[in-house]
Amino acid sequence: MNGDIRELYQQMIIDHNKNPKNFRPMPDAGRVAEGYNPLCGDHFKVYLKLEGDVIRDISFDGSGCAISKSSASMMTAALKGKTREEARALFEEVRKMLSREIGKPFDATKVGKLAILAGVCEFPSRVKCASLAWHTMLEALEPTGKQVSTE
Ligand code: ZN
Repeated sequence: MNGDIRELYQQMIIDHNKNPKNFRPMPDAGRVAEGYNPLCGDHFKVYLKLEGDVIRDISFDGSGCAISKSSASMMTAALKGKTREEARALFEEVRKMLSREIGKPFDATKVGKLAILAGVCEFPSRVKCASLAWHTMLEALEPTGKQVSTE
């Protein structure tokens, strides 16, 4: 990745960490799931309000490192108003982006602003931080009853 873009992306991660979007509990949420990343200590709840098949509202709270928090922040911004199917598709694209081999390209058009997180795959221990909110969201969307943990 080009150095300037890397810096810009780092700045955006810092900004999302400082002023996360949709960072609030949702007392009247229809769905809620809790996720842990014991490796780093990240711990979040993701709240969903569904209307039919559409995510009317999504928020999160909890605590974690800058990567996990900014990923959750960007996720909530990206998923509000999306259908269940679109949310799952985006989950898959982000998963692919985060778990790809270092140096391998990915289709940035499919992930939009979330491409900011693309550089995370260079730091395998941080991939779990970046993916935690996504796994937690999926459990809220399609509950399995399993504890969401990156371990
Ligand atoms: Zn973390």
